[in-house]
Amino acid sequence: MDIIDVVVVGGGPAGLTAATYLRRFHRSCVVLDGGDSRARRIPESHNCPGFPDGVSGPDLLRRMRTQALEAGVRIEPVVVDALLREGDSFRAVAGGRSWRARAVVLATGVRDVLPDVDWAEQAISCGAIRLCAICDAFEATDLRIGVYGPREAVASHARFLRGYTSRLVLMPIDRAFDDRFPPPYREETVLVLPPGGELMFDGTRCRYRASDGSETVLDTVYPFLGTQEAHPLVASAGAWPDEPGETVVDANQMTRVAGLYAIGDMVSGLNQISVAVGQAAIAATHLHQQLPIVPRTAEQGG
Ligand SMILES: Cc1cc2nc3c(=O)[nH]c(=O)nc-3n(C[C@H](O)[C@H](O)[C@H](O)COP(=O)(O)OP(=O)(O)OC[C@H]3O[C@@H](n4cnc5c(N)ncnc54)[C@H](O)[C@@H]3O)c2cc1C
Repeated sequence: MDIIDVVVVGGGPAGLTAATYLRRFHRSCVVLDGGDSRARRIPESHNCPGFPDGVSGPDLLRRMRTQALEAGVRIEPVVVDALLREGDSFRAVAGGRSWRARAVVLATGVRDVLPDVDWAEQAISCGAIRLCAICDAFEATDLRIGVYGPREAVASHARFLRGYTSRLVLMPIDRAFDDRFPPPYREETVLVLPPGGELMFDGTRCRYRASDGSETVLDTVYPFLGTQEAHPLVASAGAWPDEPGETVVDANQMTRVAGLYAIGDMVSGLNQISVAVGQAAIAATHLHQQLPIVPRTAEQGG
């Protein structure tokens, strides 16, 4: 089987950026992508550098794919089942196919845990549910913002969101707040609803129906239910994360396995596009410098 320089697993902002850099270093490179980037869910991003009028996630991904393809990257729509270490190289396996490479960049992202309702995706697409306060709380400034999730998560995110609105509605799902909690939980403008109610959606906005039947309408809701990390590939290549949910990398984004890099949401505490693409640039450049330089021939120059 032929060996290529790099397999990139994941074709979100991180993986596509790494692949574009690598092709521009004249490295052979393939992106293996399951096609489920978190960025697909972004209705419109206003903090993505270079887009003063905003950009939707699908549009951004389309642009990044075009850029990668124009640089000569191959993108294969497959889900990698296993990543094996074979001597000095790696083998990525997807279904009945496999790719051998000198190095691997993992950019498989994370999955948001959503409220257990069938309308969640629809609510996200119209901004009735938002998943990233750092990304888009600015657009929700002075709106009635709901904060939904386990009490501890609601508590920590409510402090952050209080900087955007005086009209917070806190909806802990497990236990009520008690006197141990400092402001904003006892401010007059902050509404604290009892656990045990139901989050509902009318096609435009969410409502919370408490167990006594009373309803509160929310302009937007941030559920803080966590994310699921996708680590099986890291583990199968021999680079176990230190803690559950954490893939350890060095300053060049390399894991403990030489030649295996990890970038983007799967490693970052700050899940942002600009962080993902920055890590991609660092990993791709370091990786390129670790591989032997292949001198250009006169024939290649035409
Ligand atoms: C609603 C919402 C709004 C957001 N708004 C913003 C914003 O305004 N600004 C901002 O900076 N960030 C925003 N984010 C966060 C942003 O989307 C992520 O930080 C970014 O997508 C991370 O890029 P990534 O490449 O690391 O992972 P992802 O974009 O999630 O891409 C990972 C890719 O890997 C693929 N994959 C996973 N496992 C495998 C496998 N085994 N084999 C092959 N492929 C695999 C997936 O299918 C996916 O295509 C938002 C997120 C959400 C959900």
